Amino acid sequence: MGETTSSLHIFNSLSGKKEQFVPIEDKHVGMYVCGPTIYSNVHLGNCRTFISFDLIFRYLKHIGYNVRYVRNITDVGHLEFDEDDGEDRISKKARLESIEPMEVVQRYTTDFHKILDAFNTLPPSIEPTATGHIVEQIEHVKKIIDRGFAYEINGSIYFDVIKFNNSTHRYGVLSGRKLEDMTHNTRSLSGQSEKKSPQDFALWKKAEPKHIMRWTSPWGDGFPGWHLECTTMSCKYLGEQFDIHGGGIDLKFPHHECEIAQAKALYDKSPVKTWIHTNMLTLNGNKMAKSTGNNILPNELFNGSNALLSKPFSPDVTKFFMLQAHYRSVLDLGSDALEAAEKGYNRLMYGIKLLSQLPQSNNSSVDINKFIQAFYDAMNDDFNSPVLIAELFETVKLIHRVNEREEKLTVADIEKLQKTIGAFVYDVLGLTLEASTKEDNVFLDKALDVLIEMRNQARASKDFTTSDRIRDALLEKGIQLKDGKDGTSYTLIS
Ligand code: AMP
Ligand code: ZN
Repeated sequence: MGETTSSLHIFNSLSGKKEQFVPIEDKHVGMYVCGPTIYSNVHLGNCRTFISFDLIFRYLKHIGYNVRYVRNITDVGHLEFDEDDGEDRISKKARLESIEPMEVVQRYTTDFHKILDAFNTLPPSIEPTATGHIVEQIEHVKKIIDRGFAYEINGSIYFDVIKFNNSTHRYGVLSGRKLEDMTHNTRSLSGQSEKKSPQDFALWKKAEPKHIMRWTSPWGDGFPGWHLECTTMSCKYLGEQFDIHGGGIDLKFPHHECEIAQAKALYDKSPVKTWIHTNMLTLNGNKMAKSTGNNILPNELFNGSNALLSKPFSPDVTKFFMLQAHYRSVLDLGSDALEAAEKGYNRLMYGIKLLSQLPQSNNSSVDINKFIQAFYDAMNDDFNSPVLIAELFETVKLIHRVNEREEKLTVADIEKLQKTIGAFVYDVLGLTLEASTKEDNVFLDKALDVLIEMRNQARASKDFTTSDRIRDALLEKGIQLKDGKDGTSYTLIS
């Protein structure tokens, strides 16, 4: 598929290896990604994960797959501290602000969509909510009970991890944890006492009289467990077995481990072929998180209002900064790194602009297919966006050499490069060439025309002190003047 000789390999967290990607159904890919729990504004860490999956979604589409991308909204059941006896995060926010839980959900879903739009991520094909699938979740709970892997205590239903592990199935296949070790290491918490064993987890929780979010079930009023919602919604829209399941690495255990156990208890098969886990965005070396307050909100970055930032950074530059790290590496956010990313971003966009006005030759002195193949090789190697960006910069260097007539390209090659770079920069990386950048370029051109004209006048009147000063001062700011047959041009260097 696509214009490439290499084939897509993805690091599968389940096997711990890079594997060649072969979809279950030819040309189709089913991908489920755990969406946000919407009890507060989405922070940049969350955005990194969704930007990573946007890159994956975009590349799969680019190489010709028909992708069904399901990303849920968790609007019930995700309890505080990820514990079975914590308070529901959305209920808590509603209680604290004296508003309806659905007002909390609406407010932060809108925020989430706005921010992801600002980052130019594509909407998923389906965005199901947990509260919209209560009936299906109850059906799943019933089936797991019928199959002997869950038990009822006092109106709550728990998954029986020990019984599951004593069957033909194993608990811990994704995280590599052993049940014996888990049993010894689990803290015993007050509410856990009703469970047979501490690592059992809730499929359905009884709603106490004061609990706001509640639904009628065969076991009395209650609400669904967080792990179950993802099993239910992924199976409903992608089938009992599907190609890719993703989420941040912090969800690998227990959330995804529990999803695997539930699906096996229901359908006797491993639900997912390739598990993809994205790494964390950190701030001052610590994970960004809503619950700890160690986070920066996207809008604080866009308007520069956070004291940790030297200046505002646009969504495109922020995204470029994130894509310069591989999705499986930890990335630390800081002003210096963002400023470096901004320079790189401008250099890339300037290179693309230059590409549209290159001198054309009758033959090419380089084989551009090698440059293009390198883009595909990078992305086929587990979506390696930093390598892709490095290869794009190699091509920008070539563009400058052609502009300076050190290399030659035919019209056809220039057009092919334009098409491919455009596809990788705009369609795959999802950058937008912001209006501001376009405007900046126009203003930069105009300002430099004035300076070049002043320098020419100084040279004409043999005032070399002034002409050299203009040249050197610009060079200091990263703008190099080049005198050629057709007059003086400029290049951005960094
Ligand atoms: P949550 O709303 O906390 O359920 O998180 C939504 C998604 O964002 C999950 O896939 C998390 O793994 C991911 N996530 C949370 N914190 C971070 C972070 N600091 N860096 C990257 N991804 C994160
Ligand atoms: Zn999930």
